Amino acid sequence: MLPPVQRLLELADAGGAARRWPRAALTDALRRELAGLRQALLDHEECELPDGPGIVALAEAALAARAAPALRPVLNATGIVIHTNLGRAPLAAEAVQAASDAARRGCDLEYDLQTGRRGPRAPGIEALLRTLTGAEAGMAVNNNAAAMLLALTALAAPGEVIVSRGELVEIGGGFRIPDIIQQGGARLVEVGSTNRTRVADYAAAITPATRMLLKVHQSNFAMVGFTEAASLAELAALSRSHGLLLMDDLGSGTLSPLPNGLAMLEPTVAQSIAAGSDVVAFSGDKLLGGPQAGLLAGRAEAIDRLRRHPLMRALRLDKMTLAALDATLRLHADPARAHSAVPVLRMLAQTEPVLQARAERLCALLSAHCEADVEHSVGHAGGGALPGQSIASRAANIRVPGLSADALARMLRAQHPAVVGRIHADRLLLDVLTLSDDDLPCVVEAVRAAIP
Ligand SMILES: *Cc1c(COP(=O)(O)O)cnc(C)c1O
Repeated sequence: MLPPVQRLLELADAGGAARRWPRAALTDALRRELAGLRQALLDHEECELPDGPGIVALAEAALAARAAPALRPVLNATGIVIHTNLGRAPLAAEAVQAASDAARRGCDLEYDLQTGRRGPRAPGIEALLRTLTGAEAGMAVNNNAAAMLLALTALAAPGEVIVSRGELVEIGGGFRIPDIIQQGGARLVEVGSTNRTRVADYAAAITPATRMLLKVHQSNFAMVGFTEAASLAELAALSRSHGLLLMDDLGSGTLSPLPNGLAMLEPTVAQSIAAGSDVVAFSGDKLLGGPQAGLLAGRAEAIDRLRRHPLMRALRLDKMTLAALDATLRLHADPARAHSAVPVLRMLAQTEPVLQARAERLCALLSAHCEADVEHSVGHAGGGALPGQSIASRAANIRVPGLSADALARMLRAQHPAVVGRIHADRLLLDVLTLSDDDLPCVVEAVRAAIP
């Protein structure tokens, strides 16, 4: 038999739960638990029922779960630098400060402090994008998907967009190039084959309805072997001779050349502009290392049409993101500074001796609580950047007698902040590629708290 609510409230009084939660919320939570148990009884007649204190504990757990913040901090020990599920790029200290300042007070978001009148929205971002990319104009929207949607809607719809069959990619989370073209109101024209597309294939597909040639970074996979793709320069010449627009979806996009010999592997936005792209779209929170944003750089006439499009109002950025983006872009203005101050670039710039030393320090600190050994490991840029490119790293392989790697991983994920590592061949690895020296004490504390 289930106890009545009144009896459960008495138990809550005796057990201290009544001091921890407001009366009305506790009563409500107890009623919900009872309703759930009644339903369970109806569904399967011989289910096992918790006792009175057990029901109070369930109600308390439900209240705690509801009171917890929707986002919990995570220490990224996965070795994946730009981890989309963990919030992509960690921000530079300068960007965090700028976002916080913008959040706390007013700012000149759309206000000209010289004249005291309404002004354009954060014009400084456009000036920075011009300097950093060599483009005539630039702008920022909610994310790269929004940038693509806006550009296809404003510049290509209802006409045709030609894309190579090798570039009709799915980025993840259901974002597929054919879908976004359709959503933008344009018509996709596929050319070439999966592994080989030549500029002549594009040329043969041009009709009076063609508006745009679209090149898409393959992002999360690499094609090797018998492959061929038209270069941006060839496509630029073709689109110019037919009065079309050439858009390059660079995906991650880098502004500063990457450190550690990775520079050759990702084209910079400036290279795309120099090769003749009319519009380049890229993310703010991938290799750029800033907040979630979609950036567009390109010809003044095209960018101006995007800026004036009614969709722009729905896709625009808020003041905190603009402040963080502005601070990040200003760091990129000095590449040497960017490599040390932008966390994504700093992580990618780490040498093996630095990683080895950090892993040794982590293992030494952990040895008070569990078994820990340094292992060679393999990290990745993530975020669709540098596909197929592994990064030599080091990890702490941690073990607790009697606990499986899965169980230990689950216990670390339950800590505050949660620690998310990587399971490899039944071993739990905490990769130091994505941890800073300052993170180590927090990781050690989480391990200490997690072990029963
Ligand atoms: C990541 C990516 C996108 C989507 O960017 P978001 O900023 O996540 O919206 C689009 N195209 C390519 C090629 C990408 O790599």
